[in-house]
Amino acid sequence: MMSVATVSPILHNIDNRVGYLKRGLGLDSDYSDLGVIDQRAKRLKVETDVLGVSEEARFAFDEKPRFSEVRFGYIPKGLLLRSDEIDRLRSENTRNLLLNHKKLHLVLDLDHTLLNTTFLDEMSPDEEYLKTQTQSDHSLQYVHVVDTPSRQLMTKLRPYIRTFLVQASQMFELSIYTMGNRDYALEMAKLLDPGNHIFGGRVISRDDSTETDRKSLDVLLARDSAVVILDDTKNVWTNDNRDNVIVMPRYHFFRSSCQKFRLSKGMPYSELKTDECDRYGGAYLANVLRLLGYIHTIFFNEVELQGWDLIDRDVRLVLKILKKEVLKGCKIVFSHVFPSNVEANTHPLWKMAEQLGATCSTQVDPSVTHVVAANARTQKSCWAVKERKFLVNPQWIRSANFMWQKQPEDNFPCQ
Ligand SMILES: [Mg+2]
Repeated sequence: MMSVATVSPILHNIDNRVGYLKRGLGLDSDYSDLGVIDQRAKRLKVETDVLGVSEEARFAFDEKPRFSEVRFGYIPKGLLLRSDEIDRLRSENTRNLLLNHKKLHLVLDLDHTLLNTTFLDEMSPDEEYLKTQTQSDHSLQYVHVVDTPSRQLMTKLRPYIRTFLVQASQMFELSIYTMGNRDYALEMAKLLDPGNHIFGGRVISRDDSTETDRKSLDVLLARDSAVVILDDTKNVWTNDNRDNVIVMPRYHFFRSSCQKFRLSKGMPYSELKTDECDRYGGAYLANVLRLLGYIHTIFFNEVELQGWDLIDRDVRLVLKILKKEVLKGCKIVFSHVFPSNVEANTHPLWKMAEQLGATCSTQVDPSVTHVVAANARTQKSCWAVKERKFLVNPQWIRSANFMWQKQPEDNFPCQ
């Protein structure tokens, strides 16, 4: 795990901001939406029996509900909890995890985040060889054929997955949350965690969701303020939970997966007989594991956050602050990147750059550090070259957003 010393340059800046928050909770509009004050005010009285679910709550089917209820079908089958019981269990579980185990909660999406799955009958002729592939082949480890009642599936686990799960589980309590159905979720959990040491039954599928086609932390027995989510999209999450999400670049291994996302450029990894880690010189899961290490260290940095109870801390604040560090000090001017009928400062790329800590502008001036342009022939592109400013394509911002790290400008030339 990462030591405090490793991340000290980041911590230095963050501590200044956290200190500010502690002195003047809620005065900084940037962070006031995170509910820090609200949580303090509403801090629940915590009881001692961590798993004290009352019989009344456990089997409350016949009783007319006095409170709204949520069915936690993935824990013991059919568990139905009233909202007051849910609040109590959330607080107790999180308090136990934070104080006794020094862990946060981590919710993991499956498809395109941890693995890629295809139907066997959708595989291309150039993927046929995979059906006889042995797992000892280095380049294609962990290809699995899974039997489902209807059709056979083949699943490829993302590179670095084994190390990721083991190391992440030392800092976080891991849960799976997929929009796949329950049978699929359980099959994938078996592939990822054959000994059931890591997920411990915390496998949530769309059958458990309270909203159709939406994921929500309301089915997790954890306080939202202590949950990090890893998913390939924020859009599948309810608005309330989007600040918890770290977005992963999508993992496409099979041709059918690329086709569904209309990625027509080049051949898929399966046909190239290569993989993500070969292409980028490092797996995305390794990168995000480093990030999770920073988040964990900052959250539990007791020296710097002394006097601020763990239970009152909000990991969403840590995410927001870390993100603001990525392009801090950059002043960006955009050139021909947005459609002419769109207000520049409402465009998602502009907002993304600001969330990453950059200052954005429509006008060039000496303080500009980067011109982000659609091509190298625009007036501002030429100005950037003449004034020796960085000239990059829009992907530079998106990559920094995925990697949580400023990317080398040379890798994103403007054509
Ligand atoms: Mg997904």
